[in-house]
Amino acid sequence: MMEKFEKDVLLKNYTTFKIGGPAKYFFPAKTKQDLISAIKTAKQNDLPFFILGSGSNLLVDDKGYDGLIIKMENSKIESFDNEENPRIYAEAGALLSSLVAQTMKNSLSGMEWATGIPGTVGGAVAGNAGAFEISMSNVVKSVEVFDISQFSEAGLPKIRILENQDCEFKYRDSIFKHNENLIIFSANLELKIGDAEKIKTRIKEFLDSRESTNILFPSAGSVFKNPKGYSAGKLIEQCGLKGKKAGDIQILEKHCNFFVNLGNGKASDVLELINLAKQSVKQKFRIDLQEEIVIL
Ligand SMILES: Cc1cc2nc3c(=O)[nH]c(=O)nc-3n(C[C@H](O)[C@H](O)[C@H](O)COP(=O)(O)OP(=O)(O)OC[C@H]3O[C@@H](n4cnc5c(N)ncnc54)[C@H](O)[C@@H]3O)c2cc1C
Repeated sequence: MMEKFEKDVLLKNYTTFKIGGPAKYFFPAKTKQDLISAIKTAKQNDLPFFILGSGSNLLVDDKGYDGLIIKMENSKIESFDNEENPRIYAEAGALLSSLVAQTMKNSLSGMEWATGIPGTVGGAVAGNAGAFEISMSNVVKSVEVFDISQFSEAGLPKIRILENQDCEFKYRDSIFKHNENLIIFSANLELKIGDAEKIKTRIKEFLDSRESTNILFPSAGSVFKNPKGYSAGKLIEQCGLKGKKAGDIQILEKHCNFFVNLGNGKASDVLELINLAKQSVKQKFRIDLQEEIVIL
């Protein structure tokens, strides 16, 4: 049963930070059947598992993961652009960049802000990804999930549809970050029919204003959530930590909420800088920074 899984797969090759030791087992899930069979095998063998998208909001331990990594590779995107109810069906493993391209092709507006974010649809829904004051919660109509807390008599996980309000979306947060039993398979997005040229212009404007995060070194996006009314990056900068290094990890000078891997950075180096930033901001401003990145 376990033969179908790849063994000892280096996770640094599956994270944008280029950090992370080996996964004991690794399985790319392209279809519903793939996902069901991987979960069933993991459950039968008491194997912990973790759902991976693009690994662009993730810090993986240097020792790796002693379980099964299920990499979501279901990537179908279909658009239904009838005038009353324009929407898109996107599978969890589809890249946001493909989704943005498809909406542009179909003159559908609502996803322009996601241009330049290197995640998957599943990862973006789970973390309620967003930019420029817009987020997934503004476009998600419903999410198709596998609820692995419930199995049928045939041993199949329950497939449920969660409506937007059931997803408990908050700033960079959702029910999926707190309930490991819910695996996102696909999402239905509600968009608006727009003007192709205007959509293209907005995408270009968003891309131009992402200049500060347009960096040459591997990273995992924003390390911390912005505390209400503050910029995490500015707080870190005001603590004098601009450009601070631990090993090969550096707090980016032009945007202190981004930590970059200059070459051989380790998860332990990232954690050292995370702790330093948290302690410094707490001491100077009495504010608790909270991680946005997921630590595995
Ligand atoms: C250069 C750069 C710029 C970025 N800019 C932004 C930005 O502007 N705004 C923003 O919000 N983020 C940004 N990010 C962070 C990141 O790209 C997003 O958070 C993205 O949505 C994460 O998706 P992912 O597929 O990479 O998720 P992963 O990193 O693979 O996973 C993140 C979490 O989601 C869970 N998850 C993934 N797929 C599923 C699924 N199918 N079902 C259940 N859980 C799942 C994982 O288990 C994990 O807990 C940036 C990152 C980089 C590197």
